[in-house]
Amino acid sequence: MTPTFSAVRGMHDILPGECAAWQRVEDGARAVLEGYGYDEIRLPLVEKTELFSRSIGDVTDIVEKEMYTFSDRNGDSLTLRPEGTAGCVRAVIESGLLRGHTPRLWYRGPMFRHERPQKGRYRQFHQIGVEVYGLSGPDVDAELILIGARLWQRLGIEGVRLEINTLASSDARATYRERLVEFLKQHYDALDEDSRRRLYSNPLRILDSKNPVMQALLAEAPQLLEHLDADSRVHFDALRAHLDAIGIAHVINPRLVRGLDYYGRTVFEWTTDRLGAQGTICAGGRYDDLIPLLGGPATPAVGFALGLERVMALLPEASHTAVPHCYLALAGNTAEQLGLAFAERLRDAVPALRMQVHCGGGSLKSQLKRADKSGASFALILGEDELASGRITLKALRTERPQCLLDQQSLQQGLADASVAEVEARLHQLMN
Ligand code: ATP
Ligand code: MG
Repeated sequence: MTPTFSAVRGMHDILPGECAAWQRVEDGARAVLEGYGYDEIRLPLVEKTELFSRSIGDVTDIVEKEMYTFSDRNGDSLTLRPEGTAGCVRAVIESGLLRGHTPRLWYRGPMFRHERPQKGRYRQFHQIGVEVYGLSGPDVDAELILIGARLWQRLGIEGVRLEINTLASSDARATYRERLVEFLKQHYDALDEDSRRRLYSNPLRILDSKNPVMQALLAEAPQLLEHLDADSRVHFDALRAHLDAIGIAHVINPRLVRGLDYYGRTVFEWTTDRLGAQGTICAGGRYDDLIPLLGGPATPAVGFALGLERVMALLPEASHTAVPHCYLALAGNTAEQLGLAFAERLRDAVPALRMQVHCGGGSLKSQLKRADKSGASFALILGEDELASGRITLKALRTERPQCLLDQQSLQQGLADASVAEVEARLHQLMN
């Protein structure tokens, strides 16, 4: 039967079987960020359209063709956020958080871009964004990169590559832009349609072209790295020295850019070959000129955003489940009536326990079938005999071992101080 309604193209449910992996990544990121002293900020999903057109720029893909824009009932033009930096900057200016402080912030949640959906590219997707305000040095740029590296390590994600580049000062960039346009005009016939369009509006973006023909041509183009101003050179060298000192491997990609004029100096991306064309899992950079552009006090800023769907696709298989430790079967009427209360006492005594309680009655045999389906490694069986004697039956569901009868007290005590990861081993010990 075809369902009457389907989700909007490019927007997906995250189904119960997938949420464990999401939580693993979200919890991991949160723990890492807390470990570096970063604070969470929660921002609206909708902002005034003008915030994005001003901050992201009118000549970017996002503003030209990807935004979900609509008019509010009173005629204001609003947009579902395509990224988080603009809203975060608006919030720190508006709330006065920049006064006398150097906030280090993070946020997470859905972003919306009307792109052609394909693997790793969706219309509603999720990012974790990290932004630091008021610190201008290469040390904080390095710290943001280290946060990424630590997160990949914690999640068991292998084979990601760090690419870095510098976009120099705005003066150096302007000089370079002229050189680049000159070079590209000499090769006008070889330019693809996109590049011709960008030649005057946003030539730096051409460097970023995914078209192999353009890439071959661009290999010959002048490089911004050859036109660095002295301060940006010092900043870039210091960033590299930090990364070398800590042993973070990186490659310099002279064509790594952001097509937005308030980005300068450090830019970086974490990439992988395992996701085809959608290989960038995390992208960051320094944007010292944005806050004044949006009406705030001159404040340096640097940040990154990682694409959760892409990170999720790299997660090792083993991280994808969160099954209960045990399934509580309730045999007979009395047990059915007392089951929930028994389970509550056990939960009070064993905070780490993941236990699914059988609901809906039925024979013990059918309950044990459900227990098997739940994925739990153990069943606990509470029946008339157990209730009368203060005991409980413990049955292994994945190994051939005879079931055993335990004091309810010993079960509680045996598990009481276990962590989530230890509960299963403790249940095995209790069977001996
Ligand atoms: P791309 O070149 O892949 O379009 P982008 O430069 O538009 O990426 P950013 O705006 O820098 O991406 O966003 C940061 C990260 O968010 C990306 O590196 C990617 O991991 C993720 N991302 C961006 N757009 C999408 C999307 N439509 N679907 C899923 N993830 C996305
Ligand atoms: Mg994009």
